[in-house]
Amino acid sequence: MSTMRLSLLLLCVALPARAGEAEDLQALKNRFAPVDLEADVSKLPDNEKAALGKTIEAAEVMDSLFLRQDWAGAEDMLQNLLRDDSPLGRQRLSQFLFMKGPWDRVDANKAFIPGAPPKPEAADFYPADATKAEIAAWFDGLPAADKERATGFFTVIRRTPEGKLSIVPYSVEYQNALAQAAEYLRQAAALTTQPTLKAYLEKRAAAFLSNDYYASDVAWMELDASIEPTIGPYENYEDGWFNDKAAFESFITVRDDAETAKLQKFSSQLQWLEDRLPIKPAYRNPKLGALAPIRVVNQVYAAGDAAHGVATAAFNLPNDERVTKEKGSKRTMLKNVQEAKFKVVLLPLAEIALAPEDRSKVDFDAFFTHILMHELMHGLGPHDIKVDGKTTTARQALQETFSAVEEAKADVSGLWALQQLVDKGVLDKKLQDTMYVTFLASAFRTLRFGAAEAHGKGMALQLNFIAEKGGFRVNKDGTYAVDAKKIKQAVAALTRAIMELQARGDYAGTKALLEKYGKLSPETQAILDKARALPIDIAPHHKTADALLGRPA
Ligand code: ZN
Repeated sequence: MSTMRLSLLLLCVALPARAGEAEDLQALKNRFAPVDLEADVSKLPDNEKAALGKTIEAAEVMDSLFLRQDWAGAEDMLQNLLRDDSPLGRQRLSQFLFMKGPWDRVDANKAFIPGAPPKPEAADFYPADATKAEIAAWFDGLPAADKERATGFFTVIRRTPEGKLSIVPYSVEYQNALAQAAEYLRQAAALTTQPTLKAYLEKRAAAFLSNDYYASDVAWMELDASIEPTIGPYENYEDGWFNDKAAFESFITVRDDAETAKLQKFSSQLQWLEDRLPIKPAYRNPKLGALAPIRVVNQVYAAGDAAHGVATAAFNLPNDERVTKEKGSKRTMLKNVQEAKFKVVLLPLAEIALAPEDRSKVDFDAFFTHILMHELMHGLGPHDIKVDGKTTTARQALQETFSAVEEAKADVSGLWALQQLVDKGVLDKKLQDTMYVTFLASAFRTLRFGAAEAHGKGMALQLNFIAEKGGFRVNKDGTYAVDAKKIKQAVAALTRAIMELQARGDYAGTKALLEKYGKLSPETQAILDKARALPIDIAPHHKTADALLGRPA
């Protein structure tokens, strides 16, 4: 009895160490390779650099807001961790900050800080003592207008002192933090001379206070500036009950001019590519519609929901349908994040997976150019189709098989398209020496996460199909190699196979294709087993942000 009381007392002073805890924390940390993330801001005039610095300060507010949104106990735990300056305490703090909370977000949310409760399923968006059933029943009993607010992106549900449920807008719930973020954004707006940036910053600052995000989302779609900030409540994954509530995040980025020019060059070739797709001419689209905008940027800072565990390399926003119906959505690609992942994950993986003569051909420019083409190719090929005389879409007709084959389509037809542009003289010939090998290495990166979800299944399909056609081969030592003579035809054949299934809306055929090819072969599995010790992703240190804010690196 007395020993138990004593240990409880100790717990209040400092969290006791669990046996092996330091080693376990180190192992968790080792999964993410530390990298200095830098962006070239040398061409920005001083006033724009100062504006960029202010947007970073606003983004830092999102870090603390997100912690608070995700778990009511996060701030107390963080304070405790900050007070503990023992080596173990520092380790705990570092992992807590990296995962934005005491749970391992890449391993089923297992707690890694002693005494942490299980991760709350619906974060802190609803009263801690409420159940999902209680909230759902309350939603259903509300008049339509109230229900819309209650289930909206930007409100939390709280209890009144009388115990009744009530709707509280973010602008009230997070009043002080949002006022601080708005002030930084207004300071940034006053510093910049770029009109679309100024408009976005002012409107987003106003949105933090009014809780009406519509005008600022529209201004974000219209951004055309050297600085591209994204800041506010966006993704709703943390609300595990209803996926209603948006978590705060931020990407502070600068535009990549060279890649933006490359995108424009590709965009002017898309109809030419569509007219040559290796499918029946009747399946080609004689007039492609307008494309969703794509931005290539370099990340200066990421915060909140955008910065925990595996680093985001690209995103589509906004999510609010009022905006996307009118203005569509924008895809943003974070080039320096992609490059960092390429260096710490893809290059070491190539050493394991590829034949020695192919390893030196793995190239970031080829990797990124292919990702750009992947995004564009989603817009090509059959989409609106006819099945038994009825108008439908490939997505609807192929149901749950669509995502896997659509991702595979964008990949493989992206290779096909790049080869067409090389042959046409639009792209440098040396790309054909690097892009297939680079793609092969990147296939293993995707497959490390298994072939269960859409991306993995789509990648297994490509690897196995192309290998069967002789485009890839497995050497005696177990490494993979590209067969330069057979790869082009194999890539065209798979492009044709997928696109014609989509054109016919052939659900059974697609299912059969995925069942035959969409799994890991023993040869692939052997490589993945060897790669197990490699880091799974990066732990970025935002060096440019530190320099801009005059902080020691
Ligand atoms: Zn895609």
